[in-house]
Amino acid sequence: LSHELRTPLTPALNATTLLRTVPHLPPEAGRLVSMIRRNIEVEVRLIDDLLDITRIGRNKLMLERVNVDLHPLLHDAIRNAASEAAVRELAIVEEYEALRPVVYADPIRLRQVVWNLHSNAMKFTRAGGTVTVRTINDDAGALRLSVADTGAAFDAEAGPRLFAPFEQAGQRKGNRGLGLGLAISRGIVEAHGGRIWARSPGPGQGSTFEVELATVPANIQPASHFTAESREKTLPSPQGQHMQVLVVEDDPDSAQTLAALLSLYGHSVSTASNLAEGLTIAGRTWDVIITDLGLPDGSGLSLGRHVRSRAHPPKSLIALSGFGAPSDVEASRQAGFDAHLTKPADIDRLLEILSSVPQ
Ligand code: CA
Repeated sequence: LSHELRTPLTPALNATTLLRTVPHLPPEAGRLVSMIRRNIEVEVRLIDDLLDITRIGRNKLMLERVNVDLHPLLHDAIRNAASEAAVRELAIVEEYEALRPVVYADPIRLRQVVWNLHSNAMKFTRAGGTVTVRTINDDAGALRLSVADTGAAFDAEAGPRLFAPFEQAGQRKGNRGLGLGLAISRGIVEAHGGRIWARSPGPGQGSTFEVELATVPANIQPASHFTAESREKTLPSPQGQHMQVLVVEDDPDSAQTLAALLSLYGHSVSTASNLAEGLTIAGRTWDVIITDLGLPDGSGLSLGRHVRSRAHPPKSLIALSGFGAPSDVEASRQAGFDAHLTKPADIDRLLEILSSVPQ
């Protein structure tokens, strides 16, 4: 399902990247391209939400837990939303008072909870309002994160339904989306053994969402400093990159836009549309082979294994897949792939990988 839902978005995203490189694009057209891209990205997020809520409902949410200091993670997530806060003319207050902020958690999933609560709070607060993000340790030493807004409070009778999937109550009014953010947040928090709830002092007095998580003992240091991905991406320079690239992909639109993009960066690109064709021409000399895994006549993993067993494998072997669970990434690694990108593939990331391939 994941694969089927994501596949049509890949060429559309690639096309917007291509369009942005067209010289002398009229400003109005440039704005339209940005609008198209933004909307595709929203669609990708909606699909991710739908898949997440399905996983949560079937108890299949996978967590990669480490000891993580919640404070830098919070600050990063809030800072990333600073432009939205500015546009909405909101004051964002951060009060990190917990002396024990380290939790044993999946940082990516925690970030998702923070993002959901924070964007929810911003969405329902009028210009001039304030969103306060706060941490404390409660009497038992647990960490309590609260996100309080000064916006319209939710209806008291809607309280219990706030965290139910597909409930309009959870969205309050004016939200476009599936209303899954709070349900997903609850699923993630509960998978961590924590609790999440909402409270409001009354109509017009704002809402506060709270998350409680167990902390790890104070003498344990976070395993790794959590660094957020940078928001300002610049396309790597195409200078000095003239590689022979083979793209194996059965979706013609995806293959064509990817080939066009890579050609734009100076590479010589050939395409194959199925496994058999891929295996036939994989024997030639390639610097890079990029292959879809879900091919009509077999798995791209076979192509990876085949290529790896040859005397002169390519310098880089990249898997492109609609599946991105840790087990999928591991399967690619075992088949000999150097990288595994989940569709819709982040073109910037792909170009970054290519630019690190030795010439
Ligand atoms: Ca495919």
